Amino acid sequence: MKLFQVILSALIIMTTTSACSADTPQSVDMIVEGDYLVTMDAEGTIIQDGAIAVKNGEILATGTRQDIHAQYTSENVIPGTNRVLMPGLINGHTHTAMTLFRGMADDYDLMTWLTNYIFPMEGRFVDPEFVKIGTELACLEMIRGGTTTFVDMYFYPEVIADVTERCGMRAIIGAPAIDFPSPGFNGWDDSYAAAIEFVTNYQSASGRITAGFAPHAPYTVTPEHYAALAAKAKELGAPITTHIAEDQAEVKTIKERYGTTSIDLLNKQGAFDVTMIGAHIVWPTDEDMDILKEKGVGPIHNPTSNMKTAAGFSPVQEMISKGIDVGLGTDGAASNNDLDMWEEIRMAALIHKGFNADATVMPAETVLQTATSMGARAIDMGGQIGSLEAGKRADMIQISLDAPRLTPLYNVLSHLVYVADSEDVVTTIIDGQVVMLDSEVLTLDAEAVKAAAVAKSDEIKAALAQGPSD
Ligand SMILES: [Zn+2]
Repeated sequence: MKLFQVILSALIIMTTTSACSADTPQSVDMIVEGDYLVTMDAEGTIIQDGAIAVKNGEILATGTRQDIHAQYTSENVIPGTNRVLMPGLINGHTHTAMTLFRGMADDYDLMTWLTNYIFPMEGRFVDPEFVKIGTELACLEMIRGGTTTFVDMYFYPEVIADVTERCGMRAIIGAPAIDFPSPGFNGWDDSYAAAIEFVTNYQSASGRITAGFAPHAPYTVTPEHYAALAAKAKELGAPITTHIAEDQAEVKTIKERYGTTSIDLLNKQGAFDVTMIGAHIVWPTDEDMDILKEKGVGPIHNPTSNMKTAAGFSPVQEMISKGIDVGLGTDGAASNNDLDMWEEIRMAALIHKGFNADATVMPAETVLQTATSMGARAIDMGGQIGSLEAGKRADMIQISLDAPRLTPLYNVLSHLVYVADSEDVVTTIIDGQVVMLDSEVLTLDAEAVKAAAVAKSDEIKAALAQGPSD
């Protein structure tokens, strides 16, 4: 009798389950479609007539439109006719609020630009209001262009985190630490204390924001200070992002001061024993690259900034061929002068071919990986974002193929790398939330953000017209 009941129950469950999957598609929050679903998974899968089911901010399933609609139903379907659906772009290194310094100091080498222009202007103008307005402008620009995650390094990280939370983006926000006086701080001691307080106490309500440390660079932060920060980062399980081996002046300074390279120096301070996001890394030696590989450091390539400040050409193809995960970034808008990841993608695909006189260097798929899947691994978020696969967070964008310059289409990856622009991005979804639809950013008031930026720039212009502050 009991056995019969067990068999009967099992039969009922089996019948119910199959009836459920055959006749009643599962209700989900959203189905997003694309004529080309570029997953950026390890196999490089591209699904023609693709779709993705999203629930609770997570990707439930990817497949063909037909399969997804057979298994799932939603009141919220974002159609994908003549659109590419792909992972959101990851900007691995920026200084968001520097959008307000866009175009203020061009055509100087890195150290002249920093020492004579940027550091003095930051000391004079950067305060919480400046950072709020500049970060809102940055987020508006990034969402518009299909960036869904960024790694930031700037002053007043709690203000940056607040703006980022409100506008729906995902970010690693590094609290700055530097040895000399900077906005809000007299020097190392108080910037270090504030950074520890931020990383220890910051809680992201949405879970989209990770707090980390952002010591500026080996030429502005002593090895002892890096060691102290690294120990604290290890204790708190927090990531570090810092500028490393950016230009020849740094290489020379570090050699003179410490008799070694920036990478060897930081490694010896334990700075690579935690998640380390290394901005630039333009001048690694062979030994340096071995350290990066062994320690799992994620170099972030910033091609436009490196050319603009004459920092040089990073050997990204060598690092990638050694198995190092390299990400892509814009750097701040004061050395770029925008936050357009499509431009970085194109630059990364082109400049190394020219520099190496070898057209096979940095092929389209590899470059796209640096902005998505490989870029996610470089910032130690490969398990959550960077590709469109079941179980990952729903960070994705749709690119319209309507523009004449995207017609005809033989190879979708070729178009994404060599033709597509920010203006072609029509939908941006982060953590399952639609933050831009039909090219309209929904989480920020674009006109108000731009007006506030113009008003702030008018204040800065008026102050500069009156001459130096001291
Ligand atoms: Zn930078």
